[in-house]
Amino acid sequence: MKQIVILGSTGSIGTSSLDVIARLGPGYRVLGLSANNNTDLFLKQVHQFEPRFAAVMNPDSYEKIKDQMPEGTRLLPPEIDSLCFMASLPSADLVINGVVGAVGFQPLVAAIKASKTVALANKEPMVMAGKTLMKECERWKAAILPVDSEPSAIFQCLAGMANEHTYNNISRDISKVFLTASGGPFAKRRGALSTVTPQEALKHPRWKMGKKITIDSATLMNKGFEAIEIMNLFNLPEEKVQIVIHPQSIIHSAVEFNDGAILAQMGEPDMRVPIQYAITYPKRLPGSVKKLNLFEAAKLEFMEPDLNRFPCLELALAAARQGGIFPAVLSTADEIAVAAFLNEKIKFTEIAKLVYAVLKAAPQTPGHATLNQALEADRWAREKAEEILQNKSFRKVII
Ligand code: MG
Repeated sequence: MKQIVILGSTGSIGTSSLDVIARLGPGYRVLGLSANNNTDLFLKQVHQFEPRFAAVMNPDSYEKIKDQMPEGTRLLPPEIDSLCFMASLPSADLVINGVVGAVGFQPLVAAIKASKTVALANKEPMVMAGKTLMKECERWKAAILPVDSEPSAIFQCLAGMANEHTYNNISRDISKVFLTASGGPFAKRRGALSTVTPQEALKHPRWKMGKKITIDSATLMNKGFEAIEIMNLFNLPEEKVQIVIHPQSIIHSAVEFNDGAILAQMGEPDMRVPIQYAITYPKRLPGSVKKLNLFEAAKLEFMEPDLNRFPCLELALAAARQGGIFPAVLSTADEIAVAAFLNEKIKFTEIAKLVYAVLKAAPQTPGHATLNQALEADRWAREKAEEILQNKSFRKVII
């Protein structure tokens, strides 16, 4: 029996995870669920799966649902410690971290320090302090199984070769990783992107995902985050990561080995495949997703990304090169910028400008960010981004 904790159960990853678990049937049990404020869906999930522990982060949501728990489910207080508690439960065999943004950082650290296996969809912590987190995994014998489709594709191509406590041993066998990107809704669009509305940016051509990641896909910031994530996770230098725009999203990423052989992971774009692989790993059990028809897929295209048109990708790669707290600042500044765009406070093209303005104000620190430095950088960048948003100085930024 695999006992599973899901953080972020009402989000896109959380609902797909529960769908997978329900279909897998006996042998997989939900031990804990957490959400932010989607109380209607959360209550439904709690009554269907009857976890031993439940938590909502929003205090109003807590008040609303506190008397509606099934017998046998304990509702924890609405605070980050409750997520950390669930992430480190002795009986948890797997922690699925599907929350969005820096809020997933502390629960991830708690899970690692409790030597847990974490199915990680929440990429921000791996961007903020991935090198340090991987060192902690090695130290505590914790494991990170990537859930995001592209890092999972790479992980699947490495099946049998990886020691998931470090992944260090495999990087020397890899000559290149092809990190694929659909290119988002504007890959083939001509003309200025400054007039793009949130509604247009939220229409992703291939993947159905949460709002933050869908906007990040439209700016290509998401691919920059994934590049940093896989460099940290698989211990790869930047030269070994080749970003490829592949609009059909059939190849979810590929690995070229030293002997010239390339292994690619393919399939219909459906998050339930990488989620199920992380849940059943190292087994492959029957799934419920549509199988790929090669004759229908027929034509696969590959293009280089246009860094001038999508400066967020360049900002991400530059932040990775600079190291220190820059990736953490990048991640948090983007969180604020995307929220501002969704609230129609800034234009689509100003997301990059705001992020750049915050990065320019950040102090250089040597080496890789420690856990504390990353958390401090998150606080600092949050304040700085709000300040720059208020005084509108980002408008003058030229990238
Ligand atoms: Mg992805």
